[in-house]
Amino acid sequence: MRAAVVPALGAPLEIRDLPVTPPGPGQILVRIEASGLCHTDIHAARGDWPVKPTPPFVPGHEGVGVVTGVGTGVTSVACGDRVALPWLGHACGRCRYCVSGRETLCAGQQNTGYSIDGGYAEYALADAAYAVPVPDGVDPVDAAPLTCAGVTTYKAVKVAGIQPTELVSVVGIGGLGHLAVQYASIVGGTVIGVDVREDKLQLAKELGATYTVNAATTDPVEAIHTLGGADVAIVLAASSAAAEAALASLRPGGRLVLVGLPKDGAIRLPIFDTVLHGKHVIGSIVGTRQDLTEVFALHAAGRTRVITQARALDEVNTAFDEVLAGDVPARLVFTRF
Ligand code: NAD
Ligand code: ZN
Ligand code: ZN
Repeated sequence: MRAAVVPALGAPLEIRDLPVTPPGPGQILVRIEASGLCHTDIHAARGDWPVKPTPPFVPGHEGVGVVTGVGTGVTSVACGDRVALPWLGHACGRCRYCVSGRETLCAGQQNTGYSIDGGYAEYALADAAYAVPVPDGVDPVDAAPLTCAGVTTYKAVKVAGIQPTELVSVVGIGGLGHLAVQYASIVGGTVIGVDVREDKLQLAKELGATYTVNAATTDPVEAIHTLGGADVAIVLAASSAAAEAALASLRPGGRLVLVGLPKDGAIRLPIFDTVLHGKHVIGSIVGTRQDLTEVFALHAAGRTRVITQARALDEVNTAFDEVLAGDVPARLVFTRF
């Protein structure tokens, strides 16, 4: 099979021919139809984060495809089923987090496209228990970005506890942000889209944002306080400065939800402002299998739009550059392998 491989951290990816491994006990083999490019894949390939993947590895945690092989003991899916292979590739299933609906906090987890090979390939192996069925009626090219960008922002909106009439700033209208705008609107929030590019702000408006702020030309803290201050800020930009501005833009009682993961990311947390104004700071990591099932159901019901452009796997390195330059409408999806 053809696969895009990270040969060394920071090196360009290489297209290699790799053997297709038959599924072991509990595993499935999936023929990938569509595989989204999450900004996390770029962090992974560059070794941006404190816990680094071990090259060579195949990135990608938005792989969607059809099951072509099942290992012994697999009963939850069958050959011919369409499934998604999300970031949470495996968890222990027994710890306090796994048994209380918080499996993404499991210390024994394995991550697709990071600690186990992912979806930038013609085929991928997966733990059947953590593959999520894609309902009929959800296009695989739409399902791919929903598998990380969708579930992550859907979960962020859930943990933010957004109430109808609350003002929600969505900071970074990229792959994640364009879906966050929609989920925040679905739960009744009034959305402020924040980005550094006008085309992204235009997209935020088309997807339901009431207000937009260009953080490259306007002070977002001042602009958002002019609107009364945000009740919730969801930070999806890979920028510590954007996260600090989002915290400062909250009104009293506001909640900051951190999702974007910049290299060496850190924010200054002003204790006086946080205490006196009763602000909350929350971290949010992807979402569970149940969250992804809900994301697919919302999409199947016609309630979300996924904005994509197709790329060939051969274009993986230029696709990374395009995302870093911000030159993509929302999500790039590999559809030709
Ligand atoms: P993306 O590149 O598609 O989108 C980022 C957006 O942020 C772009 O539109 C860009 O123009 C905008 N931006 C850049 N600087 C900004 C600033 N200072 N203010 C406002 N907007 C700014 O990336 P993505 O795939 O949406 O991922 C975003 C981040 O989220 C990455 O760091 C990724 O690793 C992280 N992530 C986290 C989780 C999680 O579970 N916590 C899951 C997936 C991705
Ligand atoms: Zn992702
Ligand atoms: Zn566990």
